[in-house]
Amino acid sequence: MSSTYPNLLNPLDLGFTELRNRVLMGSMHTGLEDRFWNIHKFARYFAERAEGGVGLMVTGGYSPNLAGQLAPLASTMNNKGTALLHRHVTSAVHEAGAKICLQILHAGRYGYHPFTVSASATKAPITPFKARALSTRGVEGQIKDFVRAAELAKFAGYDGVEVMGSEGYFINQFLCERTNKRTDKWGGPYENRMRLPVEIVRRIREAVGPEFIIIYRLSMLDLVEGGQTWDQIVTLGKAIEQAGATIINTGIGWHEARVPTIVTSVPRGGFADVTAKFYGEVDIPLCTTNRINTPEKGEEILAAGKADMVSMARPLLADSEFVRKAEQGRADEINTCIACNQACLDHAFQAKRASCLVNPRACHETELVLTVAPVVRSVAVVGAGPAGLAAATTAAKRGHKVTLFEADDRIGGQFNYAKRIPGKEEFYETLRYFQRQIELLDIELKLDTRVDVEFLAKAGFDDVVVATGVKPRTPAIDGIDHPKVLGYLDVLRHNKPVGKSVAVIGAGGIGFDVSEFLTHDFSHQPEGEQISIDAWQAEWGVAPDYEGPGGLAERQPTESPRKIYLMQRKTGKVGAGLGKTSGWVHRNSLKHRDVEMLRGCRYDRIDDDGLHVTLVDKEGKETETRVLDVDNVVICAGQESYRELFDQLEATGVKAHLIGGADVAEELDAKRAFRQGTEVAIKL
Ligand code: FAD
Ligand code: NAP
Ligand code: SF4
Repeated sequence: MSSTYPNLLNPLDLGFTELRNRVLMGSMHTGLEDRFWNIHKFARYFAERAEGGVGLMVTGGYSPNLAGQLAPLASTMNNKGTALLHRHVTSAVHEAGAKICLQILHAGRYGYHPFTVSASATKAPITPFKARALSTRGVEGQIKDFVRAAELAKFAGYDGVEVMGSEGYFINQFLCERTNKRTDKWGGPYENRMRLPVEIVRRIREAVGPEFIIIYRLSMLDLVEGGQTWDQIVTLGKAIEQAGATIINTGIGWHEARVPTIVTSVPRGGFADVTAKFYGEVDIPLCTTNRINTPEKGEEILAAGKADMVSMARPLLADSEFVRKAEQGRADEINTCIACNQACLDHAFQAKRASCLVNPRACHETELVLTVAPVVRSVAVVGAGPAGLAAATTAAKRGHKVTLFEADDRIGGQFNYAKRIPGKEEFYETLRYFQRQIELLDIELKLDTRVDVEFLAKAGFDDVVVATGVKPRTPAIDGIDHPKVLGYLDVLRHNKPVGKSVAVIGAGGIGFDVSEFLTHDFSHQPEGEQISIDAWQAEWGVAPDYEGPGGLAERQPTESPRKIYLMQRKTGKVGAGLGKTSGWVHRNSLKHRDVEMLRGCRYDRIDDDGLHVTLVDKEGKETETRVLDVDNVVICAGQESYRELFDQLEATGVKAHLIGGADVAEELDAKRAFRQGTEVAIKL
């Protein structure tokens, strides 16, 4: 066992069974749960993580009945046939020495279908369907279904279940006054509102016997108005222990909360102190969670006595060998989750199969298979941005001899600008990971080397992969050459000075990021350093003592050192194209720093007076003309492919593959770049 992480890798004795370490892979909906024909993919996904050393895993949520489904035909554990299929999963996991629990998740009013039920007839802001209030007997029926799901999980070979009591789902809806208006024994005073989870745990324990893990996911911080107080949460936790739970896991924030809980701008370990506050209230093991993505952070939290276990979900998507690498002293080889949500949670909310931006094999283990190449080929990869890095490392893993050419003095392409944005410090980790892989895989890295067609034609590589990326688009605006105009690369690469008032043209991901950069006071939060937990809590309105209803406090946003206008031509919502689960955080953060978002903009001209703009409405009718008296105009108007090299190679007959932004700049993101790079190399 590595002496670097003695607490994290310490086995945990649960009395009737032992976990080999303190790492719990938290529940994630992957989309593989929903269809029986995906069961072998699902089993392989878990098996790889079990082989990678994790102690205990929790599946994505399974509803105990049809009313509790997240969406029509979504994962449900309500019959023996389904349970039997799950034996493929449990036996694969057990063979690899890990343990696995099935999560029972009743969506309640969060269900995306017309048959939802809840404590009261309410509608959540995240679905169009209003839930029906259950009758008193109806509540009993739901409890029976929870118990039946747990029995079926046992029959399927699971080591236990996790009862989902947080994130604003069914159980949480009973606990809080905001959603529970009942007057029977399931509503009214807190003792009544907490009856449901306690009964569920008690009756599951009765049904499954003593030697079966019951994890209860306790909402320790609701982060919504009308949420539970700290005293109530402690009372519930104690009752849950008495009812027979084996482990209490931490749940943070309802889905409808307006405080971010897992996106990349949440500081690492940002909620561990919530679990720490609960520590000592119960005698059963406590698991902490949210934004813990390195073994160092997990170890630090456990060593400080804040919890007994650490839940990491997305980090195990990003690297299935996370625990093994930590054990073997190879933590610098871990592909770190950057908390972008782009391929995991965003996919789950779009009913698409999950994956991982930095690891496209996640949830595609049986499809993206890295076989040893039958013939070793010499491969040139041109461009060390995300696409080129993925192609080079995947090709080298398969045994090819790879040379990676990069015009810049460092690897990473545009990730070098992304990592400079406050709240995106995690992007440094991806560059660290690939730098280390390049060394380990003996890839010949040629920095400061801009290759051209003549060189490649002469060099005689078997394959050339062109990953030359993108160049910023220069829009045809009158006055675009005015000295006050800057490109985003002038700001993020060349550090050109930027004045006190700025118009940002283009409100895509980069326009938002540049605005974030320009609204930050780097004397308070030095570049490259994550915001402190205290400062972050003040910014988002989390009560430092977590005591009051929902654990909320008044927000104290930091002031921007600049006045920013963020503009787009479209007349729809500014930032509508941002990530499903992270876009609102970016919008909200800029609004609180008084960034003025303008839509329906026609850029008339730029001159000494500033930016002249005409605003139009949805029908294209002019509503206003304005002159924004700004010191600078920063252009973030999208990008174009940089593909001259590929075209020239084609013309000279050199076999080349085109990937990433160089292939298609439209709707390019790093997710596509990494995936395309991986796919091309799998076929070489
Ligand atoms: P690039 O990253 O552009 O890399 C191309 C590389 O090729 C460059 O390093 C270049 O120097 C090199 N090159 C070009 N020509 C040659 C040559 N002839 N010889 C040698 N080398 C050459 N995407 C996301 O998905 N999520 C985000 O949160 C995100 N944030 C971003 C924030 C900012 C500020 C920026 C600028 C971008 C962000 N992106 C984000 C976009 C993402 O970085 C790009 O989609 C991705 O980098 C594209 O990868 P690529 O490999 O195709 O191209
Ligand atoms: P983008 O998302 O396509 O946005 C480009 C912006 O420029 C849009 O607001 C567009 O809106 C505007 N625009 C386009 N052509 C224009 C023109 N001729 N004149 C004036 N305005 C014009 O591209 P991006 O911001 O450059 O980002 C590149 C990629 O990186 C994106 O695909 C994005 O997903 C990714 N990225 C993601 C994140 C993230 O946090 N997930 C962050 C940064 C980047 P109008 O046409 O309405 O003006
Ligand atoms: Fe982490 Fe992003 Fe991968 Fe999700 S997609 S696991 S957030 S790196």
